[in-house]
Amino acid sequence: MLIIIIIWTLCFLPAYAAAETMHEYTVRIDPELASIDVEARFSEPVRRISARDRNASRYLLDASDCEAGRSLNRSQWGMTLSGRGTRCLRYRVDLRRAAQDDRRNAQLSKTNVLVSASLWLWRPRGGPDLDIRFDVEDGERVSVPWQPVGTGRYRLSESPGSGRAVTAFGDFYSAEPEVADTRLRIAIMKPRREIDSDGLEGWLVETARNITLSYGRFPNPSPQVLVIPTNSWGISPVTFGRVLRDGGESIELFVNTRRPIAEFREDWTATHEFSHLMLPYVTIRQRWVSEGFAQYYQNVLLARAGIYDAQKAWQKLYEGFERGRVSRPELSPNNASRNRASGSLMKIYWSGAAMFMKADVELRRRSGGAKSLDNVLDDMQRCCLPSPRVWTAEELFRKLDTLVDEPLFMPLYRRYADAPGFPDYRKTFDELGLTVRRDTVYLNDSAELAGLRDSITEVPVSTVIGASGTDKRPALR
Ligand SMILES: [Zn+2]
Repeated sequence: MLIIIIIWTLCFLPAYAAAETMHEYTVRIDPELASIDVEARFSEPVRRISARDRNASRYLLDASDCEAGRSLNRSQWGMTLSGRGTRCLRYRVDLRRAAQDDRRNAQLSKTNVLVSASLWLWRPRGGPDLDIRFDVEDGERVSVPWQPVGTGRYRLSESPGSGRAVTAFGDFYSAEPEVADTRLRIAIMKPRREIDSDGLEGWLVETARNITLSYGRFPNPSPQVLVIPTNSWGISPVTFGRVLRDGGESIELFVNTRRPIAEFREDWTATHEFSHLMLPYVTIRQRWVSEGFAQYYQNVLLARAGIYDAQKAWQKLYEGFERGRVSRPELSPNNASRNRASGSLMKIYWSGAAMFMKADVELRRRSGGAKSLDNVLDDMQRCCLPSPRVWTAEELFRKLDTLVDEPLFMPLYRRYADAPGFPDYRKTFDELGLTVRRDTVYLNDSAELAGLRDSITEVPVSTVIGASGTDKRPALR
């Protein structure tokens, strides 16, 4: 019996103890979307709390210590409690006003709103994770980037904080399709007019499948995917996209719902954004690494998905490399990213793409085709993703080098990161049998590495979709 008790204690105590050290938040969203009421119960007395956005105090309607019943001293930056602090705090946030000030809501129906969590989530700096439970009425939905731990319950842990988490409330299109063991937590915001939400969901599922054409999985088990309709009259179906990492990973896509769904499938933006999740967040001072990676992979993956043919993928890479080559040639990629130098955007977006292409070719050449960048990314995901912290380019490349037989990434980094100019992609193109005449790329099949080249744009044998998991698509709720 004693042994059983000891085993039980060893098995369950750590989890129980961990649960004890979390701050517990209960969040109630007003059905009219006018306000957010929060009750925060802290694991230890807290003297000061703040929100990540300096404008958050504008929307704070009321805040009090629920044990002593006294109001809090407020400043623009935070709320301070006198004395020993408190273990319990209640506050109310003006959701309607915060939503009105957020231009993302401009085209949305009044039944749903988006608001940055940094405007309503007041918390102590550092310390334990947050256990956040939403108390919503039937039919009301919640979309947040944090890790789901039960119905309406989420855990907010340490995160790189590359952007501000977006939260969505009200009546929007919501679906959680599974793609190769990943549960996409999709929220398609409702605009004032009818939209093809089924078509948009299908497009997101296809985009997630494109990512699995790398190593058979999606890099995050349950990312938040937010689709925000805009009033654009432009020709682009996706007007803007970005990845946000703030307590969880989200992909935010602004769309022009006037464009037909077929055009969304041809658009590279979503595949680019989803590709970012295959690497950890690299500091913005070296953003050429993450942007370049996504530029290379989006083209490779769109070719594998059959949306581009091989010629089109190489043509797009060629055109990008050329734009990068003529962009601020006197600057190095690190320099351009660090100083956000004007006119250097194409250098930032394409130098890393050329570097990752060279790494991919070299890995395939060294191994006689047995290994590629896909395998390295697979191992990277298994060991380190999603990552709770910000990486430097050097840390990332050193890590990638531990996943290959012989260093490759740091030597490339040393060669190109601080060097003016652009990586010599033409030499690699020649070896791959990619000939350029009058800005058109031709594929020469008699080149020595023509087979290696073709394998880059072909689906790796190990990644047959659905083979490793389900690929279900429940109907939109
Ligand atoms: Zn990007």
